[in-house]
Amino acid sequence: MGSSGIESVRKWIDAARRVVVLTGAGISTDSGIPDFRGPQGVWTRNPAAGKLSDIRYYVADPEVRKASWRSRLEHPAWAAEPNAGHLALVALERRGKLHALITQNIDGLHLRAGNSPERVIEVHGNLHRAVCLACGWKGPMQPVLDRVRAGEADPPCGECGGILKSDTISFGQALVPEVIGRAMGAAQEADVLLTVGTSLQVFPVAGAVPFAKQAGARIVIMNAQPTQFDDIADARLSGPISIDLPLALRGVG
Ligand code: NAD
Repeated sequence: MGSSGIESVRKWIDAARRVVVLTGAGISTDSGIPDFRGPQGVWTRNPAAGKLSDIRYYVADPEVRKASWRSRLEHPAWAAEPNAGHLALVALERRGKLHALITQNIDGLHLRAGNSPERVIEVHGNLHRAVCLACGWKGPMQPVLDRVRAGEADPPCGECGGILKSDTISFGQALVPEVIGRAMGAAQEADVLLTVGTSLQVFPVAGAVPFAKQAGARIVIMNAQPTQFDDIADARLSGPISIDLPLALRGVG
């Protein structure tokens, strides 16, 4: 769907009171952070990289943890800036339309861009915090990364000696029930559910799409590649997100 699709989306958003947005890695590729499953995705280029995102390998294998810490040190999120797509969602909030911004991203760019913490639901956590898998200690990530830079390849928890990791949800790890509950509750209340830059393959969050549809929302899917929910979408836009999203979210009048 081309510009006529964008026009329809603009009208629906103008008429909506509650727009719920679900973002994935694709909104941040134009900020220099690769996605997982796109043509240049981390897993597309190196299928073995999936191990670093799986809690079972992380807990069982010190070599996986060391590789994870090296990859965290070099993560493009530390230098990334929000792009026009992130900023369009800040403008949507300022128009009073944004009911909730559910994100699978761990890069913290929605908050950096200026969306308010009350609206942003980070269902997969945030890379900027570290957590101890044994005692539950949580703290900022940068001091832990300083320890890695200083030579600790797999830094243990300073409180209890347990395994540290980023405070993000890896594959094989349970979501926080209260957080996913808030996300699903918001999806149920949406007049329009707009998904942006997500392949919609990770559940339960992808289930927000049929859930919102059943509850009466219009569904707009903005993604370069097809998704399994395209047939229930009222509009499908194939991006690029940093161009199409600001156009779609600009008021009609
Ligand atoms: P995904 O990699 O499965 O899918 C991203 C989709 O975005 C792809 O289908 C791709 O075609 C599309 N896309 C990429 N750039 C685009 C652009 N500029 N315009 C239009 N479409 C574009 O990502 P996902 O669905 O978010 O699932 C991956 C999981 O990995 C998530 O749970 C997330 O937590 C995590 N992840 C996060 C980040 C981040 O925080 N930035 C990066 C990689 C992965």
